[in-house]
Amino acid sequence: MSTDPSPTPIPNWSDPSDCPFCGTALSDPGAGFIDHLSDNDACEAGFDEWRENVAGDMGGEWSG
Ligand SMILES: [Zn+2]
Repeated sequence: MSTDPSPTPIPNWSDPSDCPFCGTALSDPGAGFIDHLSDNDACEAGFDEWRENVAGDMGGEWSG
């Protein structure tokens, strides 16, 4: 039995050289991730959701 109260994916940030959403190895931990998001709609959507979640938890929004 598993409970899943939220559809928001939980990214795994433990290894910055891999995409935290799909686990694909990134060419670069920083810029490579942004490139990866622009090439992968599912990961980009997941990142947007995750970021909104974090912003909500912190009671503010990230800028930039
Ligand atoms: Zn990905």
